[in-house]
Amino acid sequence: MNLARESIELVEQVARILWFEGTKHGLRDREWMALRFLSRANRFSRTPSALASYVGTTRGTASFIIGELERLGYIERKRSAKDKRSVMLSVTQQGKKFLARDPVNVLVDAIAVLDDEAKVRLRDALRHVLDQSDAAEQRHHTDVCKRCIFLREDRIIADGKTAAEFSCRLFRAPIAEPEVELLCTSFEHHRL
Ligand code: SF4
Repeated sequence: MNLARESIELVEQVARILWFEGTKHGLRDREWMALRFLSRANRFSRTPSALASYVGTTRGTASFIIGELERLGYIERKRSAKDKRSVMLSVTQQGKKFLARDPVNVLVDAIAVLDDEAKVRLRDALRHVLDQSDAAEQRHHTDVCKRCIFLREDRIIADGKTAAEFSCRLFRAPIAEPEVELLCTSFEHHRL
């Protein structure tokens, strides 16, 4: 029995839940993917071009998806305060509420009942697969900021206590502690 191949056969079938014909609760699969991504992305990745890269589509298709989500009131776009030409996308309260109906929640719930050790093993195995395929295909996947090669952590002493202070060496910007858990399309992992 080839365990690696058997695993991929299962992943293929899991993917059928992610990719479907038509709509579910009024959204197409890519629109769901975009909404899900925007609810988890950091401020550098909530842009039309980062969204296009994450969903794996052209800028034109991403623009159509953004327009549709905006029309339905699930996201809103704002001009960046620093650069008026760039646009920042955010999920509205209505969009956050709507995510409770996300078709992938059935997968999330199935994983949630595993014990913590099994969850960590599953996550790490999927990450290993992505890391390895990135190297083979010379690309990089989107992942959480805390694993990124560009994240810098400094220890500072304030009021007699030691605290962590984070910054991004790529964007040359401070990163708030909760942001290290968010997704970034510019993520790069440490290569061994
Ligand atoms: S440290 Fe990496 S993941 Fe975090 S914001 Fe910078 S490029 Fe993105």
